Amino acid sequence: ISSRASTILSALDISPEKELPGVYDGKWRGTGDVLESVCPTTGEVLARVHSATPEELQTALQKTREAYTFFRSVPAPRRGEILRQIREALAAKREELGALVSLEMGKIRTEGVGEVQEFVDIADYAVGLSRMMNGRVVASERPGHSILEVPNPLGVIAVLSAFNFPVAVYGWNLSLSLAAGNATLWKPSPSTPLCSIAVTKIVSGVLEKNGIPGAVAGLVIGGKDVGESIVESQDVDMVSFTGSEAVGRQVGKVVQSRFGKVLLELGGNNASIVMPDADLSMAVPAVFFGAVGTAGQRCTSTRRLYLHRSIASEFLERLQALYASVTPGDPLHASTLLGPLHTRSAMDIYTGAIDRLRAADAEILVGGGQYTDLSSPLDRGNFVMPTITVPKSTDVGLALWKTETFAPILSVAVFDELEEAVQWNNGVPQGLSSSLWTKDLRNVGKWIGPAGSDAGIVNVNVGTSGAEIGAAFGGNKSTGWGRESGGDAWKQYVRWSACTINFSDDAPLAQGVQFPA
Ligand code: NAD
Repeated sequence: ISSRASTILSALDISPEKELPGVYDGKWRGTGDVLESVCPTTGEVLARVHSATPEELQTALQKTREAYTFFRSVPAPRRGEILRQIREALAAKREELGALVSLEMGKIRTEGVGEVQEFVDIADYAVGLSRMMNGRVVASERPGHSILEVPNPLGVIAVLSAFNFPVAVYGWNLSLSLAAGNATLWKPSPSTPLCSIAVTKIVSGVLEKNGIPGAVAGLVIGGKDVGESIVESQDVDMVSFTGSEAVGRQVGKVVQSRFGKVLLELGGNNASIVMPDADLSMAVPAVFFGAVGTAGQRCTSTRRLYLHRSIASEFLERLQALYASVTPGDPLHASTLLGPLHTRSAMDIYTGAIDRLRAADAEILVGGGQYTDLSSPLDRGNFVMPTITVPKSTDVGLALWKTETFAPILSVAVFDELEEAVQWNNGVPQGLSSSLWTKDLRNVGKWIGPAGSDAGIVNVNVGTSGAEIGAAFGGNKSTGWGRESGGDAWKQYVRWSACTINFSDDAPLAQGVQFPA
């Protein structure tokens, strides 16, 4: 492999010369089908990784269960201390791991490093949480009785994650799950195996040093088959799934049908609304980052832009000037703003969406194609032009408005009244992120209130993408209603027991029921 790649991999203790085992359950194993990790920037094969065979998956599930049985009795503050060490180990490799995210996923370096920072942040949060996962004492109506609400560890948590956040999404889940006393089994995206191997090496190093079974944070690399087997398994108490709406719909049904717990973080179709009084010097760069950042491959990417008629032409002029400044490049270079799409098939999805826009007579203001003049090795990368389009119709019921296309395509419409824009904002199936730009407090009240945005993330003078870990993260409607990361998200990673305890010499029934009468 190129020296560019081998420097990054060897800094993370990964030797790409041989085929790598893709299963960790206390020991590294893996003899199943071989997956290739392909660099989206150059097309280079970075490594070959053995996925889990069905038997290896079953063994990993069994080891995870055993690890849970051990780990649930470790006191929560002690679990927090282990998380603190994981946080330190991750922070020590922040730059190297961030570079691997750029190399394998394709996002630019500052975002790759930012993703590792997000894991560090949530680990910090969970260290604190490990001393604050409190239950409650509830007043009983019966004399001499107390009611406790007790959070206990839940069991085995499977984390199925998407390609676009190959480190942070696992970090959100692992940190809360570990603080809560669970064992976690991770099935990452099959196209980012190296990120998951590097993270698992760092985490397992800490577990092993502390005498904790490695299967507290296990790994099974594989594709759809491995994912399906995990989702169907009665050995998995909760499935935390991050990915597309189409797959999430299946996962939700299957887990529900066996009465397991499921947490869904699915697609977004996020809008920014710009009012006449908005500060455009803030709004224009924020929309630019939201739509072009990560080459449009964030669940929170800005895909729809609703402009008030009075500022629409000025806004678009300024936005187009920023688009004109973007050139594609190696995401590992500090000056690059636009990296590649993650896969070849993502390029086809982009091209298909542009073709459909053209067929519907949408105006293409900027972009709308692939780069033809890139020099080697970028000419083998998955680069597409960030696109701004003005569809002919504003009907949000049309596929071109209501479908998430995971690529840098921004669709624009012009409105006259805030109510109309909010209706468009809410008119699509997804409900992840949304953003309003205004200085008028009355608009803010409407936006965040009962008749406002129905998304899980409702920002004001902040773009749709780039959330912090402190609040619970997630979306409504077809985004799946899941909440991860901060806020009260931890409460899903425990099993709650309502315990009524009688300290009295009598055994009265609730509600004054007499039996026998
Ligand atoms: P995807 O749905 O193709 O894959 C997600 C995961 O599911 C992968 O690990 C994949 O191997 C696995 N999988 C595929 N078929 C399966 C099946 N039948 N049963 C079980 N598992 C299966 O998604 P992707 O292309 O990797 O990621 C992009 C999508 O993820 C976008 O829609 C994006 O919006 C969404 N996403 C959402 C969030 C969020 O927090 N809401 C965050 C990141 C990404």
